[in-house]
Amino acid sequence: MTKYVYDFAEGSGKLNDLLGGKGGNLAEMARLGLPVPPGFTITTDACRAYLRTGREPYGLADEIGLHLERLERRAGRRLGDLLVSVRSGAKYSMPGMMETILNVGLTDATVAGLAARTGDERFAWDCYRRLVQMFGRTVRNIPAEAFEAAGDESPRELTMRYLRVFRERTGEQFPQDPREQLDQAVRAVFGSWNSERAVLYRRQERIPADLGTAVNVVAMVFGNLGADSGTGVAFTRDPATGERGVYGDYLANAQGEDVVAGIRNTMPLQDLEARDKHSYDELMSIMATLEEHYKDLCDIEFTIERGKLWMLQTRVGKRTAAAAFVIATHLVDEGVIDLDEALTRVNGAQLAQLMFPAFDLSHGARPIAAGVAASPGAAVGAAVFDARRAADADAPVILVRQETNPDDLPGMIAAQGILTSRGGKTSHAAVVARGMGKPCVCGASGLDVDLRTGRFTVDGHVVSEGDVISIDGTSGRVYLGEVPVQPSPVVRHFEGEPAPGSDPLIRAVDRLLTHADKRRRLAVRANADTAEDAARARRLGAQGIGLCRTEHMFLGERRVFVERLILARSAARRDAALADLLPLQRNDFVELFRAMAGLPVTIRLIDPPLHEFLPPLEELAVKVARAEERGENPGHDRELLDAVHRMHEENPMLGLRGVRLGLVVPGLFAMQVRAIAEAAAAVPGARAEIMVPLVGAVQELEAVRDEAQRLLDEIGVDARIGTMIEVPRAALTAGEIARAADFFSFGTNDLTQMGWGFSRDDVEGAFFTRYLDLGIFGVSPFESIDRDGVGRLIRIAVDEGRAARPDLHIGVCGEHGGDPASIRFFAEAGLDYVSCSPFRVPVARLEAGRSAVTAEGSDTR
Ligand code: PEP
Ligand code: MG
Repeated sequence: MTKYVYDFAEGSGKLNDLLGGKGGNLAEMARLGLPVPPGFTITTDACRAYLRTGREPYGLADEIGLHLERLERRAGRRLGDLLVSVRSGAKYSMPGMMETILNVGLTDATVAGLAARTGDERFAWDCYRRLVQMFGRTVRNIPAEAFEAAGDESPRELTMRYLRVFRERTGEQFPQDPREQLDQAVRAVFGSWNSERAVLYRRQERIPADLGTAVNVVAMVFGNLGADSGTGVAFTRDPATGERGVYGDYLANAQGEDVVAGIRNTMPLQDLEARDKHSYDELMSIMATLEEHYKDLCDIEFTIERGKLWMLQTRVGKRTAAAAFVIATHLVDEGVIDLDEALTRVNGAQLAQLMFPAFDLSHGARPIAAGVAASPGAAVGAAVFDARRAADADAPVILVRQETNPDDLPGMIAAQGILTSRGGKTSHAAVVARGMGKPCVCGASGLDVDLRTGRFTVDGHVVSEGDVISIDGTSGRVYLGEVPVQPSPVVRHFEGEPAPGSDPLIRAVDRLLTHADKRRRLAVRANADTAEDAARARRLGAQGIGLCRTEHMFLGERRVFVERLILARSAARRDAALADLLPLQRNDFVELFRAMAGLPVTIRLIDPPLHEFLPPLEELAVKVARAEERGENPGHDRELLDAVHRMHEENPMLGLRGVRLGLVVPGLFAMQVRAIAEAAAAVPGARAEIMVPLVGAVQELEAVRDEAQRLLDEIGVDARIGTMIEVPRAALTAGEIARAADFFSFGTNDLTQMGWGFSRDDVEGAFFTRYLDLGIFGVSPFESIDRDGVGRLIRIAVDEGRAARPDLHIGVCGEHGGDPASIRFFAEAGLDYVSCSPFRVPVARLEAGRSAVTAEGSDTR
């Protein structure tokens, strides 16, 4: 028969699946001989069975009875004279999301006994009042307002009134059988697993919905029995900085929930020493025992009842990102854990957090709007609604647009941050901002942006061009005015600048990154299009460039060359336009090769549809119409407009782009390959890799490859030629494609787009929120790799590619290359490298190291 109930003495931390975190840790403490009030844990199995059938599973009531008897024997009192707390406790901590009921067992009859035993009648009635209130709310769903205190009532009067409220609201007496109270409380705690807030929290935290909660039934101890009683919380190290030393708060003559509620001011834990040295010393010794046992920072809750210390809870404590790094390395210095273990105690998300400047919100700034937290960090500047004006501005600006397009690039480069009212995490604004390491809030749909008048309105606020705003790309919040910003000391250190005041943190980050580098098998490259980005990437530890998007080299002033190419009516004119582009491209690549000093540089041939380089249709149409109205000849604009019409595509992302462009526009790829080869020939040690985008069939790659190889031979340069794998067909025919490729690089942005059939520019804003609510996925598949679907395509391509060609070099250069969870997947799938934006390089190094030392998922939830 299934065992549903465990005494604390029977359980252990190894049974957390069954006993929940709280139950497992109470059992651990009991086993260590620490003063835990007696009690037992009802398993998550019982909860799951209850939630499935709406009834307690067979045998549970008897088992509870048996354990209750044992508890009563130990306490020397029957339930009723013995009071218990009934507390939820799931495998993963879900603070405040589920229910707890205290003082279970009190009735009209037993309240007098409690008064006599404690010699404190007010106290006894106060306990009963708390029970009726918590039970009424939790078990019988009576709204909290029904239990408001009037102010001058005695605890007894208040209790009487609450008992009346209970009767009126439920039509029943408050249960006077202690066991009945207990059973109802247990059921209510089971049920609270599915409360609205618990469901929401699980979705956010990606906690599986079917785990269920355990229920802990614990003999009550009281911190509110006078001056020699009290309650507190403590940490074995500083959870904010990670510094050694005990930190905590103590509240004399109070119950645990009073501390949390912040009703009265607490005193520093150290002051307890003067009040009650015996308990204080015992507590210090217990905390040392717990640290030694858990080999980590622990947080605890304790109560002192009339001079006797009781441990109510412990767990490995939550901490800030900075503290995580400092504590992990301190524990290594103390000989408690080794460096491998230390690596598992931190994660890439924490490092990323440490790398962004942050707002100092201690002055109480209030947000006026919120959008998608698209690229983290804090930025302050004057709102500017036009990219050109942003680029020309002398003071710091925030570029505000409905959405951005490649034309906005100069303004985006000049701005401190970018704010848009449309688009999600893979919108143009988001992707470009992340690439630049610049804060971006996008899809702030509450914003009514009027580009014509140069202002936006939101929630009654009007922000006009020039007004200062602050945006937080980490939280997605937008503030009016200037919120003070603190630069990241970690980034300053990476960039070789002094970062005063953060030495322990800097040392810890350096040490763990160095160890990650030693352990990892995955190489880390960067996505970079300019020599400046490439140089930064190297400073941050990149081992090469995994993706240079050459289309970014055709924007701005160079756009006219592309226009000439598109408008060319003869082969001679087209060749002339390409010939003009050649030296510019060659120079781009020379700079890139120089910046990377002999490290590999993967250059991708032009990818987007050519009409992206032409002005927007509406703009041209207006210009032409105006000119015609004035009786002028629109000339060049008319030609451009005709070209835009001619090249219009209903689905440009599935249209004439990538390799298709190279096969259709004669000379375009050849010009780029020549530029790469000539640049490589000019820079000693240059290691060029030529990458073809959007290949779906080996024949496409072969056609490009043959021409490219001829050019390389002619110029006398050695370069690898490979392909992006970003069309599902390419992944499914990888064995064939590998015959023509020296390397694969997964374009997971397009592979996700085409794998799911999700337009990467539209869907996040359109319906992802609903999908996340419905739990269709826990996180956007554009942000973190979809292991089951897109991941399967990747595994197939890796396996079949390597089977056909064992020396095939394989990497990834989509946005996922910088995402911690995805990096773990790429390591497992056997990739050789990941490539991500320069700012993510340290994060990727750390995560790659972590994947090497741990076989399974993150344990630092
Ligand atoms: C990709 O599709 O993942 C990729 C890297 O290419 P792009 O984002 O430029 O389409
Ligand atoms: Mg792509």
